[in-house]
Amino acid sequence: MKVVLINPYEIGRQPFGLAEPAAWLKQAGCEVHCCDLSIQKLEAALFENAGLVAIYVAMHTATRIALEALPKIKVFAPQAELCIYGLYAPMNADLFRSLGVKTVFGGEFEPGLVSLATRLMNGNTGTQVEPSVCLDKINFILPDRSGLPALSNYAKLVLPNGETRTVGFAESTRGCKHFCRHCPVVPVYQGKFRVIPQDIVLEDIRGQVAAGARHISFGDPDFFNGPGHALKIVRALRAEFPDVTYDATIKIEHIVNHPDEIRALRETGCLFIISAVEAVDDAILDYLDKGHTRADFEQALAFTRETGIDLLPTFVAFTPWTTLQGYRELLQAIIDLQLIECVAPVQLSIRLLIPQGSYLLKLDSLAGTLSDFDPKLLGYRWGNPDPRVDALQRDIQSWVFTAEERQLDRQAIFQGIRELAHQASGLAAPPLPAGCTGNPAPRLSENWYCCAEPTCEQLTSI
Ligand code: SF4
Repeated sequence: MKVVLINPYEIGRQPFGLAEPAAWLKQAGCEVHCCDLSIQKLEAALFENAGLVAIYVAMHTATRIALEALPKIKVFAPQAELCIYGLYAPMNADLFRSLGVKTVFGGEFEPGLVSLATRLMNGNTGTQVEPSVCLDKINFILPDRSGLPALSNYAKLVLPNGETRTVGFAESTRGCKHFCRHCPVVPVYQGKFRVIPQDIVLEDIRGQVAAGARHISFGDPDFFNGPGHALKIVRALRAEFPDVTYDATIKIEHIVNHPDEIRALRETGCLFIISAVEAVDDAILDYLDKGHTRADFEQALAFTRETGIDLLPTFVAFTPWTTLQGYRELLQAIIDLQLIECVAPVQLSIRLLIPQGSYLLKLDSLAGTLSDFDPKLLGYRWGNPDPRVDALQRDIQSWVFTAEERQLDRQAIFQGIRELAHQASGLAAPPLPAGCTGNPAPRLSENWYCCAEPTCEQLTSI
């Protein structure tokens, strides 16, 4: 049976979430075709004679793009069973089912996809019998990346001197053992994480290095859920490919609690760590149950700098608890900590997303700020008690979009954000102090985030 796997978008990564199920489905006797909408367009020929079309939704933006793509997929493949899978599938199951998608898989989705394909090959097109969330320990096999666009089409490593390098994308775990309230991993994995065996991860990396990768970006929700596992992989990576560098996402709490392991990352070629700092206001961090304070963030930053690894913080800049003063304090913290070059401007425009099943819905303090679930947004709408904060978020989002289109540098975009933040309170923004931007850090050419409006460019691929 012909199966088409579609990746709407995954922040410039060549998706493990297509390569791994492609391997499983081929092993089960399917003819698998992949389409990555971040690079390719939907074409009718792709869907000819397809028995199953499965769309991978690893992030909010991908889910929004999937919704836009669905009508066209239904026209191109009226005969095919439609399936949605990935982290954002279970929480949006009702919506997708109402649009004609019959099966939904979250968590460890490969066994469900194989079971579905096998059922279809046996002529069983009935309703879903597989669990919509599987957290079983599955037997990972070597992902098959042969049907995906070449790595050179995806996000690149950009070094401070302007040099760019081809990036490979690997995962060593799925899920997370933590319970940050706003995190979409939590309602699905509920404190569990699953390990991908070292030999599979390394063989996958080997293939990507052979395909030109000179840097590996680990896409684990948190690379240090199993630090021993992570260290075995990066030590083996270093031993085999001493010139290949890498990056990973690690929470502040783990950086603070694992100094020796962080030093080991530096020794094995880690260039930078992305960390979901989210806020510098301890009360907001408490609402989000982040497990760190502003002081922990500052400690982690000082330590990574001392170690020689750049820390690239991400933020949820706008929440129901954000005030105009609090937002200006966030900007001031970025100045004081010399982080302007390390914070992607989009991070300063991000508005808290509250998807279906979010643990935030358990918070009493949100009562009164939430409206009904909005299927267009794929989340619950909320309003800040101070409408000037919501207006500021819209202005900053629009400024960041325009400024990035004009290719302004980070300092200019940051100062524009600062001026808007001051204007919102009737204040004038002072000029930036000299030398406050910090040194440019290595980074990927596509920003890390999980929830943003799809851009026109993303939608034209459909
Ligand atoms: S935000 Fe990070 S550490 Fe927290 S639950 Fe999500 S993946 Fe885990």
